[in-house]
Parts: sequence; C-alpha cells; structure tokens
Amino acid sequence: MKDLIIIGAGPAGLSAGLYAARARLQTVMLERLSPGGQVLMTDWVENYPGFPDGISGFELVDKMRRQAEKFGLVIENQEVKRLELTAESKVVVTEKESLETRALILASGATPKRLGVEGEELLTGKGISYCATCDGPFYRDQEVALIGGGDTAVEEAIYLTRFAAKVNLIHRRDELRATKVLRERAMVQDKIHFIWDTVVTRIVGETEVKGVDLRNVKTGETSHLPVQGVFIFIGYSPNNELVNGLLAQDGLGFVTTADDMQTSVPGVFAAGDIRSKILRQVVTAVGEGATALFAAERYLESLK
Ligand code: NAP
Repeated sequence: MKDLIIIGAGPAGLSAGLYAARARLQTVMLERLSPGGQVLMTDWVENYPGFPDGISGFELVDKMRRQAEKFGLVIENQEVKRLELTAESKVVVTEKESLETRALILASGATPKRLGVEGEELLTGKGISYCATCDGPFYRDQEVALIGGGDTAVEEAIYLTRFAAKVNLIHRRDELRATKVLRERAMVQDKIHFIWDTVVTRIVGETEVKGVDLRNVKTGETSHLPVQGVFIFIGYSPNNELVNGLLAQDGLGFVTTADDMQTSVPGVFAAGDIRSKILRQVVTAVGEGATALFAAERYLESLK
C-alpha cells in the first residue's frame, strides 16, 4: 500500500511530487508520456516568476522534474487505465498492475480542443496541428491559418511568424480574448493578418491541407482561403476520462474541488488544468500541486 499516488507529471504533479518527496511520503508518480505536460508545447514562458528573461517550456519542466527527483520522487512511465475510488479505498489500475494507495492526487491536465469541422479528423497530422512549437518549422515561407483569439492563439501566432510567410489569425469575434501585452505584440507583426468575425466551416484537402472554407458570422458571406497549414488553438478539454462518474465536475467536465484541492471523494485531490478554476497557468498549477500535497498529508495524518 502506497501513501500517495500522483497521476500526471506536468507542473502541478511535479510540484506535488517535490513536496511529497520532501515530506518523505511513500509516493509514486505515474505518467503515460514523458514528464512535462502541456508546457512542453510552449516555446517560451515569460510569465513564470523568477525568470526575467523567460525560459523555454522544456527547460522549465525539466528543472522541475530534476528538482523533485533530487529529493527522491519516483516517476514511472505507466498509463492509468482505471480508478476505483471510495472514501475507504483507492485503487489505481495501470496497464501493468493494480496499486492501492491511501491518498491520490489527480494532475492529469487537459488536451487541446478540436474544432469539430469537416476535414479536421482526416487532415490532423497532415497539415493540421495543435502545437506550433512542434510543427511550426514545417511551414517555412508558407501561408498558414490559425484559429482562436485567446492567449494560446496569439502567442503561437507570434511564434509562427518566425517561419511562415503569412499567418492568418481567424477569430470568431472582432476583439481578441488574449491579454493586452500579447495583443499589442501581435498587432505590430506585419506577418499576422487578422480575419475577424469569421469561423472555419471546412478544412479542405485529401492527403494534405489545401485551404479553409470560411464564413463571416456577421454578414453570412462565405469564402475560401488557400493555406498549407492549419493551427487550432481554441482552448482545452479536461483529461477526465478516468474520473467521469467518480468525481464531481463542473458543466465543462473540469473536476471541482474545495480550497484545499480535495475533490468530492475524501483523500482524492486534484491540481492543475484538470481542476475547475479561472486561470490555467504554470504558476497556478504549481501552487495547487503544493496545496494538494499539504492537504493530502493532513488527510494521511487523520487516518492514523
Ligand atoms: P481560451 O482562453 O479559452 O481561448 C479560446 C479562444 O478560442 C477564444 O478566443 C475563443 O473565442 C476561441 N474559440 C473557442 N471555441 C471556438 C470555436 N469552436 N470556434 C472558434 N473559436 C473558438 O483558451 P487558451 O487561449 O488556450 O488559453 C487557456 C488558458 O491558458 C487561459 O486561462 C489562458 O490565459 C492560459 N494561457 C496563458 C498564456 C500566457 O499567460 N502566456 C499562454 C497560453 C495560455 P471567444 O474569445 O469568442 O470565446
């Protein structure tokens, strides 16, 4: 029987893991891919305090992982298949084994949302991408479409100007949701062309992206924009498959918690992007990871 299992090795999980290792709890962290989470897809992080010149997403989480491992955190590369959660017992079933634990911290994060239009499924990986850092260099001197108006969309549009000849930022309203500093930076970029009040109705192509069909939501006018690549940044869906029906969630499927990160099942805590909250950032994720661990420790004490 473990004291604690942490599911997910992004910033929230790694922060919980660092605190757990320092508290000398018998902990195991399970991660299905490699440690890092979504911040691995971020080229440059410039709003995490302590790095005045910014830091690459990869380097930031690599430092977090090394710091946690230095204090003895064990990270296992295993995909969790199923959870059995009650107030009395918590069982984590992976592809290899069944692990019993006293407390659980869920930090499984979120996944980029799909647009849900014709052509998206067929052409994902063949010109449609959800990660500019991963795929931007393929579009050197080409024209791309980028959908969304939030922080991610604008940040990634700016990043793509390093490679693409032209970035068409297509937004369904006439005002960006992104924070002001990003808006200002995007507005002065010659390579970013804004297409306002417009939605993509179809991504065109058979074996590769040839363009996007557009509709102006104000005038109803339709048009076609030839592009070689499509980048979609319209928000995130929670990675909640393991806890659907087991933990209380908000209307969008994010796990609801108390201030101490406890979910609807005693001894089960949630931290990071999977949680229902107003701000999804590395800086909020790490704070929640530490809080979840503190509360888990108190919970474990109460069992004695
Ligand atoms: P977001 O803030 O939810 O923005 C999603 C954007 O996509 C919005 O502009 C939205 O339009 C648009 N959208 C949503 N569904 C759409 C659809 N079906 N069709 C067309 N457009 C659609 O998501 P995000 O930008 O990924 O950011 C997620 C969180 O991470 C936020 O809290 C954000 O602040 C944070 N973040 C921060 C940074 C940073 O601080 N540097 C970087 C990245 C992300 P509307 O505006 O009309 O709703």
